[in-house]
Amino acid sequence: MSKVVVIGAGASGIIASLKASQKNEVLLIDGNSQCGKKLLVTGNGKCNYWNEDISLKNYFTSDTDVLNKILEHKNEVLDYLYSLGIYPKVKNGYYYPASGLAASIREIFERELDRCNVKTLYNTKVLNIEKNTDKFIITTEYEKIEADKVIIATGSKAAVKTGSDGSCYEIIKNFGHKVNEVLPALVGLKTNDKSIKEWVGVRCDAKISLFIDNKNVIEESGEIQLTEDGISGICTFNISGVVSKAIYENKNVLVKINFVPSIENFYDFFEERNEKLNNRTIEELLESILNYKLTSVILKKSRIKKDSYWDNLTDNEKLILIKNITDFDLEINNTNSYDKAQVCTGGIPLNEINNNMESIYQNGLYLIGEILDVDGKCGGFNLAFAFITGYLAGKSI
Ligand SMILES: Cc1cc2nc3c(=O)[nH]c(=O)nc-3n(C[C@H](O)[C@H](O)[C@H](O)COP(=O)(O)OP(=O)(O)OC[C@H]3O[C@@H](n4cnc5c(N)ncnc54)[C@H](O)[C@@H]3O)c2cc1C
Repeated sequence: MSKVVVIGAGASGIIASLKASQKNEVLLIDGNSQCGKKLLVTGNGKCNYWNEDISLKNYFTSDTDVLNKILEHKNEVLDYLYSLGIYPKVKNGYYYPASGLAASIREIFERELDRCNVKTLYNTKVLNIEKNTDKFIITTEYEKIEADKVIIATGSKAAVKTGSDGSCYEIIKNFGHKVNEVLPALVGLKTNDKSIKEWVGVRCDAKISLFIDNKNVIEESGEIQLTEDGISGICTFNISGVVSKAIYENKNVLVKINFVPSIENFYDFFEERNEKLNNRTIEELLESILNYKLTSVILKKSRIKKDSYWDNLTDNEKLILIKNITDFDLEINNTNSYDKAQVCTGGIPLNEINNNMESIYQNGLYLIGEILDVDGKCGGFNLAFAFITGYLAGKSI
């Protein structure tokens, strides 16, 4: 029986501990006072832990072949979660515990750790890991602990208050690993354009297109939230990791927003609306199409007075107005910070681990979860990745 030390009691570390405990003595260490602290805040406290479409297209990574091999195990892992007692409610492909409570998943995990005799050491930060001839030596704030195998499951730098502060990247580098730049993802985007301030608080359906150095790289549709200094919401989150990287590389980032994605040719539609609804100002014509605050921002940007009439606008003014409704240019200068991010993009490249999540540089050292260079879109993809990688490491040990 080997002694396995798992560092990090988040989604990936818990599953790795449970699986590894079937054949080993396992010690799970975390700086927090309990396991699964981050789990409690996921999915707005409801924990969207899985998705029925776990596939490459919902992830960002530099190593798609390795990720594909990892994701092949999805069904086995979903069955395993079910076998632990997690009863799902599936809504539009998104999995939640039927209780609607993230806390119920954390409770199941805590009890299962106990049942599987996983020893836990909480309120303890790991400061260093070394390997001598046959043992790993883990240095915590209080003592040195020996282990035959070590699983690092310490997450990224996102949401630091849940315990993940990125402190283990340096430790992992000491074993020869590279760390691709770790940047905020699933996070709001910020602009220096002060003219949009007035739209704060508006939520609307939109299509957003991301342009990096004038090249259209992604499009997303769905609800966006307009904030005092930019945009947020699921649709925005899903492009934010790519934006983070582009900003880090000093590239030019522009988001084009269509505020009326369900109306195909808005110019013709608007002209017809003007004909049908006799004698209405531009503001009145936009009534019930756009939120007032958004109308005001768009009219100011178009330099058109709200009490002007469509028929009195020049052709150029008409084109500018329609462009700002269907193709609003928003220059992006930054993202929100790590503490507001749900995950990070970047981390240890997947081509530096084998199929069992073991380091290619150090036998017996395993790397799982968000510490790896994989980030998923909103929808349960990140927890699923944490669970699958934790499962694979624990099972192989
Ligand atoms: C607000 C929010 C909402 C989210 N919602 C969802 C969602 O609905 N669906 C989804 O799929 N994903 C969601 N995510 C992302 C998801 O929670 C993470 O991707 C996932 O939890 C990562 O798991 P992990 O095990 O890799 O790391 P973490 O859960 O971050 O766990 C890492 C653990 O390691 C510990 N640790 C770190 N360094 C040390 C050290 N030096 N010594 C000891 N312990 C250490 C930390 O205390 C922490 O407990 C959300 C994230 C946030 C912040």
